[in-house]
Amino acid sequence: MTAAAAAPSAGPRILVLGGSTEGFAAAEALANLGYDVVSSFAGRTRRRRHAAGAERIGGFGGVDGLAAYLAVEDVALVVDALHPFAATMKANAAAACAEVGAPLIHIDRPQWAQDPRDDWRLAPDVATAAAMTPATGGVCFLTIGRQQIDCFEKRTDLDLLIRVIDPPERPFRHPRASFLCARGPFRLDAERALFEERGITCLVTKNSGSAAAEAKLMVARELGLPVVIVDRPPPPGGQAFASVEEAVAAAAALLGDETAW
Ligand code: NAP
Repeated sequence: MTAAAAAPSAGPRILVLGGSTEGFAAAEALANLGYDVVSSFAGRTRRRRHAAGAERIGGFGGVDGLAAYLAVEDVALVVDALHPFAATMKANAAAACAEVGAPLIHIDRPQWAQDPRDDWRLAPDVATAAAMTPATGGVCFLTIGRQQIDCFEKRTDLDLLIRVIDPPERPFRHPRASFLCARGPFRLDAERALFEERGITCLVTKNSGSAAAEAKLMVARELGLPVVIVDRPPPPGGQAFASVEEAVAAAAALLGDETAW
């Protein structure tokens, strides 16, 4: 674990479990309100933005490790701004907060909604998505991150273009795969050009709901392409807010403002 120092704040300490755009926005808004904000990252992305307030990087060591951290660091509130597919960490946060009695707020951005023109095929997980991806004769565009691409190793009947932020850590054994390292936001005109240049005829993605990653779905819609879309894991329960603004207002309502510190 590593930590970065930041100017001390007099306000109650808030742990933001980061990994999404919303996490950076929440950390900034909460720090501006005077809270002592610490953002936590798994540490998988090589080049990452810096969050307002302090940062810590790396796993806590499961539920017990997180519960110990919350107690030792006197955390008054936890904000889950994890990516919607970070199911293990979300469950750990719920269990650890329950154990130490710390309030927990989830930022749960809306999912992408299917349009009548879309040819979506819903998959409950990445392994099922790999099994149900149609062989369309062109290139299958994978935008599911790098952690579960192994599920596609056996689909040697597909030509794969795999877009990731950082290159995979493990070798990916597939005779017809190429990687594209890129970080969003992805603009509509650039996505149109990519689909055309690379001969993309099928898309596989996770329903992250991110506005920065939505353009590819619009292009698939325009071209009438099949989209295999992995459904979100169920949320762990608790107070969930669709926007950063609502979550920050809820945090302030729970912890009070400067006049009370
Ligand atoms: P995960 O499967 O839910 O979590 C695996 C383990 O990674 C956790 O048990 C925890 O280790 C550690 N971890 C995860 N997020 C952490 C955080 N913010 N701070 C400290 N430790 C963390 O998570 P994941 O799907 O691998 O995602 C890892 C990170 O990437 C998350 O921050 C997530 O928001 C982000 N992300 C995920 C996806 C995705 O599709 N899954 C996409 C984009 C970004 P310990 O048990 O040791 O505490």
